[in-house]
Amino acid sequence: MPLKSPEEYVESIKREVNLYMFGEKISEFWKHPNFKIIEPSMNTVSKIYELAQMDEYKHLMTATSHLTGETINRFTLIHQSVEDLINKVKMQRLVGQQTACCFQRCVGFDTANALWSVTWEMDRKYGTNYHKRFKNYWIEVQRGDLMVAGSMTDTKGDRGRRPNNQTDPDQYLHIVDEDDNGIIVRGAKIHQTGFLNSHRAIIMPTLRLRPGEEEYAVSFGVNTNEKGITMIYGRQSCDTRKMEEGKLDIGNYKYGGQEIFVIFDDVFVPHDQIFMKGEIDFSGELVNRFAGFHRQSYGGCKVGVGDVLIGAASLLSQYQGVDGASHIRDKIVEMIHLNETLFCCGIACSAQGFQREAGNYEMDMLLANICKQNVTRFPYEIGRLAEDVAGGIICTMPSQADFDSEEIGPLLKKYLTTCDGVSVKSRYKLLRFIENLSMGVASLSYKTESLHGAGSPQAQRIMISRQGNLEEKINLVKKILDIK
Ligand code: SF4
Ligand code: FE
Repeated sequence: MPLKSPEEYVESIKREVNLYMFGEKISEFWKHPNFKIIEPSMNTVSKIYELAQMDEYKHLMTATSHLTGETINRFTLIHQSVEDLINKVKMQRLVGQQTACCFQRCVGFDTANALWSVTWEMDRKYGTNYHKRFKNYWIEVQRGDLMVAGSMTDTKGDRGRRPNNQTDPDQYLHIVDEDDNGIIVRGAKIHQTGFLNSHRAIIMPTLRLRPGEEEYAVSFGVNTNEKGITMIYGRQSCDTRKMEEGKLDIGNYKYGGQEIFVIFDDVFVPHDQIFMKGEIDFSGELVNRFAGFHRQSYGGCKVGVGDVLIGAASLLSQYQGVDGASHIRDKIVEMIHLNETLFCCGIACSAQGFQREAGNYEMDMLLANICKQNVTRFPYEIGRLAEDVAGGIICTMPSQADFDSEEIGPLLKKYLTTCDGVSVKSRYKLLRFIENLSMGVASLSYKTESLHGAGSPQAQRIMISRQGNLEEKINLVKKILDIK
């Protein structure tokens, strides 16, 4: 059965890479002191492998491959039904609940589901064989239970100019050469979630391309340690707290996300790993379908993180003796209302899914965009309410070192004590956890990623305006009021 254990995953990801971090090259990252910063992000991915082994979660975490008939991790499934779409969102909420951060494996998953139908449609129009290539590539992914990153965002240079009109043509990743065996690509992909923690990556264009921009209409699979690929580890707020002696000041000290700046310096891609090459008329569809699937994802993952944050605010209100206050209870209710509204959106766009001619199932595009548009707002309000319930101490509290100090520690404990029987250390942990999600490392996963991940708010508004069917709405009122 192609399911890796968490230990097998961790061993398999310890491969030499071309990685830079804090100005230093570290190929064997797992042996370097900076691994303390990287490790929580690997723990998070490992959790996906762990949950898939547990009987109570198997119904969500695993599925049957329509390609091999084997049991696979759901993160490698090509959706075969509306139920699959719904279970995807439920699974993402589950993993968010278990890790309280970005678990990184959805981007490659969503890319694969978009490519499945787009490659099929390209082959039908142009007689190419991208679909078969992709199918073979994805069978290897399923059989190896591989972690796959999905790479879309280019550096974009001058945003007012097209890819083929930049001073530096590499601002968008493109094909620079080609021979009988494959292509050579150059460019950079940024905000690459979980790239270091991934065995492979699938690269896509970042926008709909026009005639004259064929070299930018390229999609392919690549090993993340391929020759010519350089990774630079992204900084996150308060990340060096992970290097400190104690771990409580980190907040969520077990789990975390990971973002990488990836440079492709003349990387060779063989033919059998190329899934689009110059088909500009399909570039927009690939971008939209991937974005749609990823906007659906946010109706699960961020809800799971929200569940943990609501739990933290609620428990803290008990620890601080305010859980009976009506305004606190109301704030918790508001947090639940906002969080479940996001889940409603994730489930709704899945339940309204449909079958593509290629056979796979896709979410409802309009509702997926509504889902993500709400995700750009609600986690900020949920976070604001959590900060409100917690109190200003989330950003004024002394360090764990002071807390543990023989000299000052007892006095800090005395004055941080709240209700009888409440552990000061547990309260400290909760305050740091909320700080972490509001303004520390995890604020990236919960806030900025909610805003910009899977496309910034304006990208969804463009899709909403295209999909909103205003004409039909106008006709409705005309019919009722007999307006010709
Ligand atoms: Fe998955 Fe959410 Fe992270 Fe995207 S932001 S990779 S959907 S956990
Ligand atoms: Fe993301």
